[in-house]
Amino acid sequence: MPLLHQQGEAAIRVSAIASAARAAGRIGRTCALHVVDLLLPSVCAICESRCEAGDQLCPECWTRLLGEVSKPWCPRCGSTLGEMVPARMDGCVSCPQPLPCFEQVVRLGPYAGPLGALIRACKFYRQERMLDRLAAMLTEAIAARLPNEFFDLIMPAPMHWRRRLSRGEDLARRLSASIAAGLKLPLGHELVRIRHTAQQARLPRTRRLTNVKGAFAVRGKSTIAGASIVLVDDVTTTGATADEASRTLLKAGASKVTLAVLAKVDPARAYASSGI
Ligand SMILES: [Zn+2]
Ligand SMILES: [Zn+2]
Repeated sequence: MPLLHQQGEAAIRVSAIASAARAAGRIGRTCALHVVDLLLPSVCAICESRCEAGDQLCPECWTRLLGEVSKPWCPRCGSTLGEMVPARMDGCVSCPQPLPCFEQVVRLGPYAGPLGALIRACKFYRQERMLDRLAAMLTEAIAARLPNEFFDLIMPAPMHWRRRLSRGEDLARRLSASIAAGLKLPLGHELVRIRHTAQQARLPRTRRLTNVKGAFAVRGKSTIAGASIVLVDDVTTTGATADEASRTLLKAGASKVTLAVLAKVDPARAYASSGI
């Protein structure tokens, strides 16, 4: 059996043990994870080589990951910028036109290489502690990138209940909870998905905007009114889903939406995935 699959099964076992421990309280969960650390060898989530006990990546992969995370990005759409291209609030050549309803983007890196591999591992192999690390890194990125910004609410980009049922893991919801705790801000769930839509990644770029139109609604507008909101998602491709979610929040009275994502699919890859 490939090592990654073994690691995935090990992670699912870790997840099952951790879930049981959560019911018994935080102390029990921590103890259970330490026991699992002793029983299972630590394997790098990217290259599958052995690594330090309790760590999720080997030193080489940490170096590669941090190299990706330090790449500059466009603050309006989140696309990776060349080293010599200035980050401008009026956008870059890759920005969609018209510009999206969210005002700015904070991201960890491009959806490629080590970061892409890690996000897929979190999504499909439930690498819970790796997701916690990524969430902490994104929290630090928000604080470092926008040190003078005042936010009122952290809010996940909602997944339709049918997709949550089939996928089981809702990364946006888990990331939002970690970020809200890290920034000591309230976590909001007022934004809801009212329509099940085809998966954006499987659609041509031209159909993505219409696919998500009217997909969201706000319940409990009083908390939204005048609020500066951090909308959290795991990955953004063209930004169409986050754009529609932001439009819904602004119509409900939010003053501003900032998009925070683990990764942005850079435009060349987004076009490739849509067959354009
Ligand atoms: Zn590695
Ligand atoms: Zn841009």
